[in-house]
Amino acid sequence: MKQLILLISFFVVPITGFCQYKSPAQKYAETITVDDLKDGLTILASDALEGRETGSRGQKMAAAFIANHFEQLGLQAPVNGSYYQPVDLYSVTPGEIFIRSSGIQYNNFKDVVYYGSAPSNGIVSGEVVFVGKGTEADYAGLTVKDKVVVLLSDALSFNLFSALRTPVTLAREKGASLVMVLSTSNSNEFGQFATQLQGFLSEGNLTLDKPNSGNANKGVFFLNQPVAEKIFNTTFSKLTKAATESPKSKSLTKLKPGKIEYQVSMDSRSVKSENVLGFLEGTDKKEEVIVITAHYDHIGIRDSGSGDRINNGADDDASGTMAVLEMAEAFVQAKKEGNGPRRSLLFMTVTGEEQGLFGSQYYVENPVYPLAQTVANLNIDMIGRRDGEHAGKPDYVYVIGSDKLSSELHEINERSNSSYTKLVFDYTYNDENHPTNLYKRSDHWNFAKNGIPIIFYFDGIHEDYHQVTDEVSKIEFDLLAARAKSLFYTAWELVNREDRIKVDRK
Ligand SMILES: [Zn+2]
Repeated sequence: MKQLILLISFFVVPITGFCQYKSPAQKYAETITVDDLKDGLTILASDALEGRETGSRGQKMAAAFIANHFEQLGLQAPVNGSYYQPVDLYSVTPGEIFIRSSGIQYNNFKDVVYYGSAPSNGIVSGEVVFVGKGTEADYAGLTVKDKVVVLLSDALSFNLFSALRTPVTLAREKGASLVMVLSTSNSNEFGQFATQLQGFLSEGNLTLDKPNSGNANKGVFFLNQPVAEKIFNTTFSKLTKAATESPKSKSLTKLKPGKIEYQVSMDSRSVKSENVLGFLEGTDKKEEVIVITAHYDHIGIRDSGSGDRINNGADDDASGTMAVLEMAEAFVQAKKEGNGPRRSLLFMTVTGEEQGLFGSQYYVENPVYPLAQTVANLNIDMIGRRDGEHAGKPDYVYVIGSDKLSSELHEINERSNSSYTKLVFDYTYNDENHPTNLYKRSDHWNFAKNGIPIIFYFDGIHEDYHQVTDEVSKIEFDLLAARAKSLFYTAWELVNREDRIKVDRK
């Protein structure tokens, strides 16, 4: 018998050994399959889950599906024995909001628009100073501490909030008690803007912090031109002239400050949501943790103008969620066969991404494992599609942030990919000054801002982004599987290498 076995091994070993040798990483990467991805994604993005809006029934169904998957795999439930980390949010809608000047009241969404989520302490009165475009030079000779600041802006749009970040922030740094924005847009355009924002805000603005009275200064008022004219008792053209003249002419200091009263009231209700976490303990380096994230919430049901109202979010971000689940399965299989990771892995699907990265913010503020022991975060937000730039081109993925904090992380990610999956890594969005600002726009940012090296994987902005047409039928599952494997190889190296990656960049 013994000899017979030897004979068989003689024949079998060279064939498998020579032609099909696989590293352990390759062996387990192959457990990430198109079929598994398709099965799970079809459930997460089905109409039954109603677009997984934060706090909704559909989001909770998705959470249960993920927790169940973690349980089946035998992952540890790390939040006091639960897979759920509760994230309590508040949905805030505008109440009675107005500005009064010289006895006239200007109401919200008509002559003024308030964008923010916390109420004032009743009716507040204040002195108002016009600071032109609000550049550093404009403040020469002006005292704005504890005063309401009005600054001039060229455009009115939702983009204004990011574009205006600098002048608004500067005004606050100068001690302004509240910031107001006066736009060069005419009353018609202002009316459109007000209507648009009213529609948007009446659906409820989610926040992580309980909206505290007295924090209205964290928001911004937008003023229609006639309101500013009344406040400063002058014409709009005189205000613009003062704003555009050289600071040396001191035109701004010659304008008489105005006086106003304002009130911001808000209606808020609590929204219960949750992150879903599964933990796989490492071996000799188990104190160190690599966190793999994707958000599993989406934008829910909205009128689209077509018959379909459900935003299925197949790509955004059921694709990333399924990649996390499949990676978990691959690492669990490795551990079962004695090839478990040396460092620990936290698989975390987060909530509240779509309205402000709340789930990941909550996690870093209430970490289950110390942030100091958190080695890296790999975050996935949309990896199931191809954008227009890459139509008909080789398989790719946008890689963002890998080189920002750790040169080793960047090299590992490059090397893993060139050894195995060989995707084209596109770094277009890696530039921190890229107008899309993607480095700060998904959940990885909450880790990065805490000094934890991150990589963000993304497939690009396509025509179905945040549309009801982000459907399962449009997912390229082969490509999704290839990208998930690429991430898996990088994670494999991060958890198994001898040295923890160094943070050597700032
Ligand atoms: Zn997303």
